[in-house]
Amino acid sequence: MKLKIVSGKKKQFFFYAYHLSLWHYSAYKEISDSLRKKMGILLKQEELALREIRKILKKYSFDNSAPASVYYRHDEKSIEQNLFNSLETSDAKIFIESMKILNSKFEILWKTDSRRSSEIVTYLKQVLKDEKVISLISDIEIIFSPFKKLQVVALVYPEEFKHIGGSANTGLGICTIELSDSNRAQEGILVALHELTHSLLREYGYSFEVRKPLRNSLKRKVPFSKEMTKSETLEELFLRFFLPDGYLAKKHLNQITLDSALEAAPQSFHNEILNVVDEKKTISQELIRIFKKNST
Ligand SMILES: [Zn+2]
Repeated sequence: MKLKIVSGKKKQFFFYAYHLSLWHYSAYKEISDSLRKKMGILLKQEELALREIRKILKKYSFDNSAPASVYYRHDEKSIEQNLFNSLETSDAKIFIESMKILNSKFEILWKTDSRRSSEIVTYLKQVLKDEKVISLISDIEIIFSPFKKLQVVALVYPEEFKHIGGSANTGLGICTIELSDSNRAQEGILVALHELTHSLLREYGYSFEVRKPLRNSLKRKVPFSKEMTKSETLEELFLRFFLPDGYLAKKHLNQITLDSALEAAPQSFHNEILNVVDEKKTISQELIRIFKKNST
């Protein structure tokens, strides 16, 4: 198993456009506001370019051929060509043109972000050499399933934004992590691994249909986005049981307590997962059994 950390100017520029266009609930207004402050007032054609980008992002959403997947999956040199391969020709043209219009504003942001970006990548790579992290990763392969390669795209948040983000919406074997500061590289890796478990879970083809007892307990306040569906919430809860603040982080790094979000799930659900993890026998089969039992 291999985790490859990548970053890039075009990837980061796409990330700016993603947030500035506010096309989806995972594009944050706070980030957009912060970027706008640094870029200065946008010209009319730049605002129009953002509107076009928003339209195209909404049209393809998190499809495997969507711009996000193209930017994060491919190397910097082949992004434009792959946009043409993946999007309708007119959409690819408009998307590339719109990014060009915004380029000089993005360069303003990149002046300070490029240094942080390379620092973050260096620290992330260091964390991956840590023996404890290596054994944590091998547990993921036992519990979920072995995987060959994960590409982790490291993106930079504005300095004042202290949250660590991550997404696995761009398909199997790839995830993004977003952070503002290299001091939190270990947490960043844990978020990346949490995102990886989303990919592995989806590979099984499971979608969580929430059973009634679980549904009742989920009615209590769960601190996730309001836009998440119930089944997305359950998947999130289930995976947070392991990472980034959950059982595996505690077991291997012994410094992080269970996420408070997990309190919303019933204890019996937790106990059942714990037993399976500790027994370490044909665990993937066991995991499937648990999924089936806890979802209908
Ligand atoms: Zn998640």
